[in-house]
Amino acid sequence: MDKFMVFFNFCGDVFAYDFKTSFVFSLNILTYDVLNKYNEGNSIKEIKVLLTNKYDKTSIDKAIEALNILIDNKIISSHNKESNENFNVVTDKNCEALTLMLTNRCNFNCNYCFEKNKKKKDMSKEIIKKAIDLLFLDNDNDKKTISFFGGEPLLKVDLIEYAINYIKQNNWNNLAVFSITTNGSLYNDRIMEIIKQNNIYIMTSVDGNKEIHDKNRVTMDNKPTFDLIMDKVKMYSDLKSISTFKNTITKETVKDYFDFYKYCNNNDLDLTTAIVADEEVGFNNENDVDELINVYKDICTYYINSVKQNESIQLPPFLRSFASLYPDIRSDNFCPINDKFTIDTNGDMYACHRFCGDDNFIVGNINDIKSLNPIHYNKDLSYCNECWAKRICLGGCIHENYIYSGNIVKSNDALCKLRKSSIELTVAIYGSLCKNAPDKLRNIIGESLYDKNTLRYLPLYNL
Ligand code: SF4
Ligand code: SF4
Repeated sequence: MDKFMVFFNFCGDVFAYDFKTSFVFSLNILTYDVLNKYNEGNSIKEIKVLLTNKYDKTSIDKAIEALNILIDNKIISSHNKESNENFNVVTDKNCEALTLMLTNRCNFNCNYCFEKNKKKKDMSKEIIKKAIDLLFLDNDNDKKTISFFGGEPLLKVDLIEYAINYIKQNNWNNLAVFSITTNGSLYNDRIMEIIKQNNIYIMTSVDGNKEIHDKNRVTMDNKPTFDLIMDKVKMYSDLKSISTFKNTITKETVKDYFDFYKYCNNNDLDLTTAIVADEEVGFNNENDVDELINVYKDICTYYINSVKQNESIQLPPFLRSFASLYPDIRSDNFCPINDKFTIDTNGDMYACHRFCGDDNFIVGNINDIKSLNPIHYNKDLSYCNECWAKRICLGGCIHENYIYSGNIVKSNDALCKLRKSSIELTVAIYGSLCKNAPDKLRNIIGESLYDKNTLRYLPLYNL
């Protein structure tokens, strides 16, 4: 018997998530029992019999009536497969993002840096021009993101200005969104002016609180860098509204992550999070994954308790987008490998910057490629066919898959556990906000997704 629901306890509430219809329900003991028995394959008649000694007849009848209505309206999946909605996933999108590795030089000497051993090289203007032409070539009027990456891209401000001016000369600027990923040490008046004038979104890499950060991220002469970055952020207060702190969690920094989340909240700093994909310091076995999941859970509990007390707090950054609960919206967790391309300093092309430097993943060179079609990957999801989380997870990051299983379309048990857990927490926080702080949710997802015809939540705890 195919199941279609998973259940979670979170902060005193019980939630069910129907992963085929993509609806979330908050439950009491009775509705939990009814849904759980139904999910196990029992018929309505059997459920009534099974619960007779536990609840009074009127309560059971009311809960069963609600269940029948929800099945008829396809809000809860039916055991009759033919009447179920398709468990479809939205994956189509045009190529919309270009990452330019402007240089592999850097003014820092971070302990784990993967650029260190590369020959020092800057990208040429000719390569930048060809890459931008390719991005806008099949101009479909969708927004395009141009990300300046490195090494330290702010060492090559001249190339950033060149790229932006070239886009402006071609009248593509209305379609262009810019971002820079930087170590945050080089902000100055000139750079701030360029950033503001062109609405560039900034991602400043920070490893965690001062102690953790300074252990890894040091200058060429081995000096710590945390205070340097925070001083810059204070000096250019505009940075707070246009930037986010990008924190990559490793096995070594995971203990600090909760504190760093609080630090960012207290200092009004936006935080994004990635987990490192690395055999040595990554989360490659069940114990390490469990430690990270426990930190995630603590942060989510802290978040919901703060929301309940009306405190201002940012969403835990490791949650999936709530939009991925909406079946017609493509999950933002879909590895956008076919929607983007990365150009290395020498013009070599990769589908994602994380593969840069691995010759197995060079998909061409900008000097030879005339169209983006040749770099498309066939992202086969057959490994995930039986998984309840697939609508949202969609097989995850193919780079993580490759590092841990040697295969871009195959995960491993520990990684899947982590992915499913962050999806469970996303569903639980969504349900919890629906139940306890609907105005807060409305602010996060916007009026159209909050509309009663679109909301993916139903309260079943008052029956
Ligand atoms: S959790 Fe694992 S099996 Fe499930 S969709 Fe993600 S990668 Fe696939
Ligand atoms: S491989 Fe990972 S990092 Fe690269 S595009 Fe896919 S999800 Fe993003």
